[in-house]
This record gives sequence, C-alpha cells and structure tokens, in this order.
Amino acid sequence: MASVRPLVLELIRHTSSGLPEDVLDALARARDREEPGSRAYSTFERMIQNVEAAREASAPICQDTGTLIFYVDYGPDYSPHQLERDIVGAVRDATKKAYLRPNAVDSITGENSGDNVGVGSPYIHFHPRRTKGLRIRLMMKGGGCENVGAQYSLPDTSIGAGRDLDGVRRCIIDAVQKAQGYGCAPGTIGVGVGGDRVTSYMESKEQLFRRIDDKNPDPTLAALEEELTESLQQLGIGPMGFGGKTTVLGVKIGARHRVPASFFVSVSYMCWAYRRGELEIKGDKVYLSGRRMIPAEPRRRTAASTTAARTAKKAAARATKKSARVGSSTKKSKGAAANKAKGTAAAKKAKSTAAAKKAAAKSATKKSTAAKKGAAKTRLKAAPIPSRRASATKLPVL
Ligand code: SF4
Repeated sequence: MASVRPLVLELIRHTSSGLPEDVLDALARARDREEPGSRAYSTFERMIQNVEAAREASAPICQDTGTLIFYVDYGPDYSPHQLERDIVGAVRDATKKAYLRPNAVDSITGENSGDNVGVGSPYIHFHPRRTKGLRIRLMMKGGGCENVGAQYSLPDTSIGAGRDLDGVRRCIIDAVQKAQGYGCAPGTIGVGVGGDRVTSYMESKEQLFRRIDDKNPDPTLAALEEELTESLQQLGIGPMGFGGKTTVLGVKIGARHRVPASFFVSVSYMCWAYRRGELEIKGDKVYLSGRRMIPAEPRRRTAASTTAARTAKKAAARATKKSARVGSSTKKSKGAAANKAKGTAAAKKAKSTAAAKKAAAKSATKKSTAAKKGAAKTRLKAAPIPSRRASATKLPVL
C-alpha cells in the first residue's frame, strides 16, 4: 500500500482553506435575502470574500482550525495502522505549513503539543469495508461552536420536552436560542436522537457530514428538518448574532436505538466556517471533494516570483557596492587634496568627486527603490485576489 500522507496533507490544506460548494451557495443565498447595505448583508459578504481570499492564498479561513475529525472507510487493500501513521504525519506536515494552527493542548498541564498531535488528537474513526479503495472524510470543528453544543436527557421539564418528536424539537430550538451569536452563526445543526451519551453526540457530528441541500431518507425526520430550518429563522439571531433573516443554514437529524430508560438528544452546532472535505481513492484515480485530482504542474508563478526577487536582491546589492566604492574613492581624493593643500586642479578634482558621489548616491537610491518596488510587485503577484465564484470552483492540484 502506497503512502497516502501527501494526499491527506492536500485534503487538510483544501479543507482548511475553503468551504464546500453547498455551504458557499447557502451563504450566498442567505446574503441575497438581506437588504444590501445592512449589517447582515455585509457580514455574509465578508464571509464569502474571506473564503475566496483564503482559498487563493491556501490560508485557513478562520484562525481556529478546530478539532480534526477523520472518518476513514478502508477496503482490504489498506492497512489501518499505516493509514493512522500517514494521517498523523500529514497533520504534523500541515501544522508546519501553517494550514493548521497548533490546537492540541494537554488538558492537565495546559501545554500545547505544537503539532496538533496528542492523546486522542487527531480523532480518527476507522470503518472497515469489503470493497477495495479508500475514503477519508475530514471535518474541522471550531471551538466556539463546539462550546454551544448541548445534550438533553428527556424528559426535561425546564423546556417542557417529553420523550417524543415535539420534545426533540424543543431541545433543538432551546440550543439554538441559547447559542445566540456565540457559535459564529449562521449555524448548521447536527442532531443525534437516542443512543447513549457518547453515541448520541457521535450521531450529531456524523450528521454534519451531510450536504446542506440533501434530504433525510426518513420522511418523518425530513419533515422535522424542513420545519425547523424554517422556524429557527424566526429567532432573528442572524450572522454572528447581528440580527437578520438567516440564523441557521440547515438542520440534520439522525436517530439511533436507545435503552428504554434513556432518551438523549444531542445538538452539535457547526459555525459558518463549516469545513468538511473528502478524499477518495478508487483504483488509480484520486478524488478530492468529488473532483478528480490532477497531477501537479510546475509552479511557474512561484518560480517566476523567486527569480524576480533574486534579481531585485542582486540589483540592490550592486547599488550598495557601487555606492561604497564611490565613498572610498572620495576619501582618497580628499586625503590627496589635504596633503598637497594646494592647486586648483586638486580642488577641481574634489569638486568633481563630490559631484560623482552625489550622482552615484542618486543612482543607488533609484536602483534600490526600483529593486524594492520589484520585490513588492513580486509579492502582490504571488497572492492575487480572485474573482468571486472562480476560486470556489477551481480544480485542486497536488
Ligand atoms: S466558531 Fe467557527 S468561525 Fe467562530 S472562531 Fe471558531 S472556527 Fe472560527
């Protein structure tokens, strides 16, 4: 089995520096529902622009790159031990390249591991399957939105929730209402009904791997999802809690069997920075979030900017050298003039040297400014701001 470490690194880069198409579309639709010029409209607009600029620069869309949650479905042609090594290695590589912020903190000592690797970090869930091939899904779950997640044990008299669908509905509304803007709204709400405390929360997170525009295969849950997506907007919390017509992008509900004594409802809140990506290997074909990956092309732009920077550096060095030479020759002339302490010729020479010095210094300044301008131009060229939708549909390359 060949190492998938570089492919997982690319999955992390891609996931950290952008949003899936369905999420971007949902944000754009939410923006278009708002009044242009309103706070809600410009907040959505900034979110979208932020994602596009981050995609172009391969930089994280948010400073919190979150908890890394990997779901790995592997066929008989893959070894889970090797996959774990590759994923952990790729996480370390991604942290070095600043695709990820160092986010793994020892809960007892408070020490940051510095590479996102620690006890239980990253989280990797393995699922063996009979067919060959590999699918790795990645979710990056921000801390702020994780903090506003909630678990309810029904019945819960404080919100009037019994052990039925209406009780589930009340739990979801209560969680979103309490979150206000703190989870970086608009949120997408993953819900796990049933299970035990752990698996109920797991179910709620797994729901967040679904597309925003999909439909629940269970008609009862599909109807509840639709109804809640509609009614939660009435809370008016809006993007980042600034008020507006969109408080949630969607609600996704899954249910598990439970023991008769327990009825848990777990709510996981995903912020607007809804980062999820998928790597799939089928035979010799590799897909990143549904798009075929193509081999890397020579990075001409990078090479060109490197050459330009080198040229600028050389020009600056030459200018400094010349200026130094002129300075030293001036010194000599001045000494000669002092020793001889006479003659118009010497005075003339000194005068002409001073003029030469002035001219050379002027030329040096000119060249060094030109060199600096060249360098600045190079930097700008390396990170152009793209047109809005183009960046979101760009094919990923290794
Ligand atoms: S909750 Fe999401 S958007 Fe807000 S800071 Fe955390 S990762 Fe970023």
